[in-house]
Amino acid sequence: MTFENTHPAIIDFDSWKIVQRNRAQRRRPLKQDEAGLFSGLVVCSDCGKRLYHCRATSLKHEQESYTCGTYRNHRKQCSAHYIRVVVLEQLVLQNLQRVVAYAREDEDAFVRYVMKNKLAVQRTEQERAKRKLEKEKRRITELDTIIQRLYEDHIIGKLSAERFAKLSAAYETEQTELKQSVEALSVVVNAVEAETVNIASFLKIVKKYTEPTELTPMLLHEFVEKIVVHEADKSSGHRVQRIDVHYNFIGEIDFSPEYCG
Ligand SMILES: [Zn+2]
Repeated sequence: MTFENTHPAIIDFDSWKIVQRNRAQRRRPLKQDEAGLFSGLVVCSDCGKRLYHCRATSLKHEQESYTCGTYRNHRKQCSAHYIRVVVLEQLVLQNLQRVVAYAREDEDAFVRYVMKNKLAVQRTEQERAKRKLEKEKRRITELDTIIQRLYEDHIIGKLSAERFAKLSAAYETEQTELKQSVEALSVVVNAVEAETVNIASFLKIVKKYTEPTELTPMLLHEFVEKIVVHEADKSSGHRVQRIDVHYNFIGEIDFSPEYCG
């Protein structure tokens, strides 16, 4: 039998949750080397899949990189999202330093910023979900009309039974998928309040680390929930790349400098 909260916890509950999540996220280290610093934390901005850590014993640390896992397996389904590990380290550390400095300098302002930010992120997500929802609802109605017409064509003999069965099955599958998607989107659109933002827990971690000067696995996993890597933008003639750092308890904080190289 388990009795909760009867003994003082050895580690506090928030730390425990982070450890549990990290354990679930981490892949088993490869035979020849231990897991990379960012293992399980970096994802692709376009397809949402984890980035794949490219390394080999012959590669120096400066040559190690990440690429989109989808792109690696099916070139056509996503793009490379290539980023060198040293660049990622630099960007994440800078972002983290800015967030920690802000939180330490003016805690009240930081709290206000996080709340406002969270609300803005939720609004953007809701707007996007709303647009998609409306588009999908229109398509569902459209499909009703199409299926109805197919049936009429079949009745008057313009469409063979075989052809009718094939076409209507395809449209019905599309419609079923859309109905499921509409249901999921409605949940997002109708969500009343943002998920709770636990700033207190985040500030507790901030107080443990005065001024982070280098990324360690401990630091990274205490602070960071995930890192979203965008595709490099070469339209300016330079290679400009953006990352979004999502923090534990408070979500994404847009303090990332872009990397030009
Ligand atoms: Zn991708």
